Amino acid sequence: MKRIDERDTMFARMGYKKDSEQYKDYYKRNPHKKQIDDDLRALPNICGEGTATFHPLHSPFADAGFRFLSDIKKYVEGEVNDNKVEAPAQEMTKKIKKLSKYLGAKLVGIAKMKEYHFYSHRGRNPESYGEKVNEFHKYGIVFAVEMDRHMINRAPQCEEVIAVTKGYVDAAIIGMWISYYIRELGYRARNHMDGNYLVIAPLVAQEAGLGEIGRNGILITKEYGQRIRLGVVTTDIPLIVDQREDFGIKEFCKICNKCSKTCPGKAIPHGDMELIDGVMRWKINQEQCYGVWRRIGTDCGVCLSTCPFSQEVSLDLIDKMKNSEESMKRILKEYEEKHGIRPYIREPLDLLK
Ligand code: SF4
Ligand code: SF4
Repeated sequence: MKRIDERDTMFARMGYKKDSEQYKDYYKRNPHKKQIDDDLRALPNICGEGTATFHPLHSPFADAGFRFLSDIKKYVEGEVNDNKVEAPAQEMTKKIKKLSKYLGAKLVGIAKMKEYHFYSHRGRNPESYGEKVNEFHKYGIVFAVEMDRHMINRAPQCEEVIAVTKGYVDAAIIGMWISYYIRELGYRARNHMDGNYLVIAPLVAQEAGLGEIGRNGILITKEYGQRIRLGVVTTDIPLIVDQREDFGIKEFCKICNKCSKTCPGKAIPHGDMELIDGVMRWKINQEQCYGVWRRIGTDCGVCLSTCPFSQEVSLDLIDKMKNSEESMKRILKEYEEKHGIRPYIREPLDLLK
């Protein structure tokens, strides 16, 4: 699989200030994206005044979380203790999983890192723009934190972006503590968190068996569906890896198609998978998706709430899915009886009253 260049991602592109070095370099190489990106940059900011969901007291709460993340993202790497502690792989794997859960992770797995899990070049920060990513740790500790169902089912209102921000903050803090801990034991470790990733977290999570990537490009876990945020710590401490698991999501997405119907940006394909960079998959239109975020003022999340697996499907039915179309149909039927086209709660949560 071809490695992804972080410079092409929406958040990196939106960070290129007009006439900066990054701006000139990127649009010289990608002239066809210049007008599209200039138009997107001219829209109000996410959580900003002028967006459909802007609230002068609520929107800054999410903004504050992202500002905090931006302040701490420089701490993802650090000095490694010279005194190495002997750490047998089996014991360390068990310990790291238990400690991550103690810190708030709901799911934890270990991936054997492959080159395509890493970006090819960095793009998010002007000081590292264009740097090649060529230092590969051997293992990825990947964990998922849960986002509250009642918050996500209010997508695309303000509750959604608050839940997502909380997810990023929770994941960043767990990753920080675990990476500091491993360095304290004398091994290299790096936290990958919002605004400072070298890895593509959903690919690492899929490799470690936490879930499978669905039609809308987001990881689906059996336990929480898409109501999760991911964190990754890469390291060289010896660990035992988990296996990737195919539990039938691709087949399910083929007959479900719900997210492509409810997406307000028409950004999710409704047809078959395509061969993209050597892999059969669906690819969302990231410009159309991001345009919705800038107009609505949250990161939308309608597809997260639409996905049946985000609404507590019985694990027994999910485990039978791969060999039984009957189980898939039952999941869809139960969802439709309960939620119709998708769950949507208009009434604000007590938290925001
Ligand atoms: S976040 Fe919203 S706009 Fe983006 S793909 Fe999901 S439903 Fe569509
Ligand atoms: S809503 Fe349906 S089609 Fe979309 S990701 Fe979830 S299971 Fe797949």
